[in-house]
Amino acid sequence: MEAQVHREALSRIMSRLYNKGLISAFGGNASVKLPDGTVLITPSGLNKEELNPEDLVMISPAGAVLESEKKPSSELWTHLAVYGVRPDVTAIVHAHPPTLVGLVSGGFEFGVYTPEQVVLVGELAVLDLLVGKELAQHISKIAADHKAVLVKNHGVFCWGRSLTEAYAITEILEEVAKMVVASYAAGYLMQPLSYEQREHILTTYKPTNPSR
Ligand SMILES: [Zn+2]
Repeated sequence: MEAQVHREALSRIMSRLYNKGLISAFGGNASVKLPDGTVLITPSGLNKEELNPEDLVMISPAGAVLESEKKPSSELWTHLAVYGVRPDVTAIVHAHPPTLVGLVSGGFEFGVYTPEQVVLVGELAVLDLLVGKELAQHISKIAADHKAVLVKNHGVFCWGRSLTEAYAITEILEEVAKMVVASYAAGYLMQPLSYEQREHILTTYKPTNPSR
């Protein structure tokens, strides 16, 4: 697939994140790893609702800017750290889903609640607030066992084998967080699925595998 297609897909994903209330205008970032190992990542500081495909920044596997007048996202090192330990991952989405981040930062122990979450996300890893290369270092240690890591007081990083999968994981987590809050409004706190329930779902429930 040509880089231009990925540039357009990344611009569209940022617009979707903004329109779904998962980022603010200057917040969030996303990247795609190309077959030759280079990485396309969103720029720092621009309005993510209206990114142009040419605003995306091309990065070498070592982290050098290859061809752009724009600065890459400040979370570039975290993206490269995940790609470094997960050769199967080709896309990463970072967003600020407010319900999820609020719940977990407030000390709520977020479990696994729905069949979709069991199959497509699994357990959410949680880190205390870290930034820059320190965050990248910590995420690289846990990325092998998770598809999503929440950084308290900040946001969530989700990854997958396609940009759609990384985006869907972000959306599922916020959707489930809203279900948890809604259940509390009804006077009952929705309980996470047990280990046995999750194992049963994994062996019997097979939704379409996201490939685009
Ligand atoms: Zn952020």
